[in-house]
Amino acid sequence: MNAEIFKCKIGGFECTIFKDLMFKYQAKDYFINANEKELNTALRNYNVNPDNIPSPYIAMLLQKGTQKILIDSGIGFSEEPIVFKGKTFVLKGKLQQLLAKENISTTDITDVVITHFHPDHIGGVYTPEGELVFKNAKFHLHQEEWDFWNTSKSDSQPALFKFFVENNVTPLKNGNVNFITQDYQEICEGITSINAFGHTAGQIALIIGDTNEKLLYISDAFLHPLHIDRLDWQTNYDLDHKKSKKTRIKLLELANKESMKINAFHFDFPGLGFAERNGEKWKWVYDK
Ligand SMILES: [Zn+2]
Repeated sequence: MNAEIFKCKIGGFECTIFKDLMFKYQAKDYFINANEKELNTALRNYNVNPDNIPSPYIAMLLQKGTQKILIDSGIGFSEEPIVFKGKTFVLKGKLQQLLAKENISTTDITDVVITHFHPDHIGGVYTPEGELVFKNAKFHLHQEEWDFWNTSKSDSQPALFKFFVENNVTPLKNGNVNFITQDYQEICEGITSINAFGHTAGQIALIIGDTNEKLLYISDAFLHPLHIDRLDWQTNYDLDHKKSKKTRIKLLELANKESMKINAFHFDFPGLGFAERNGEKWKWVYDK
């Protein structure tokens, strides 16, 4: 699917998924402990090259009545090059442009949920000039994630990641923020936060919808369908592999128990599908 905007309905919400950017990753970072032969066979089954695993960055808009809730904010957009450690780069996220295409102004957004503080999820909160993009929104984020990135706990994290947090999240300290502290905490009507720690210190997943129909937004608990098929395959991008695996099992069992469709941020756009259970094993099936 090449489109940049995907629409569906989820339990009372009009849902729009935007493709903010396409990126590519490498198998050596995505599957650091996989047996090479097994990995190559598995990747061939998904038709991907180990040096070029395509991966979208997305943002999801949920609308119901006057509520306009944005889940994650994209990588951001910059007209001018940004200078970092003597190097320059330009951010080319399309979220704002795609919102405008849907006649949605950034000032219409009532809530922004930040699932965790990696650049592809927080980059769009402020402009490179330091102006808040979603001026009227309440921001929902987990206290653990905030504490990790805003204290010395994150000192060993990549400098670029810290730069993104300092510019896109830390300035919210004087803003309109709801700090999530509980597992299964309702953020707003129809959206519940689930602790999904491991990828980062305080990542959250979300249950979206009503009693008739629910979707599980897993953010980066799984970066590729092979992380569902092979729960032991670890990624370089996870902070804590043990916690990540616990979270993976927790989310799969939850989706299975409640017959929920899943949305995965980095899977083939728009990242919707199901996890099928076979005993202790799981298999990802795209909803196409
Ligand atoms: Zn991500």
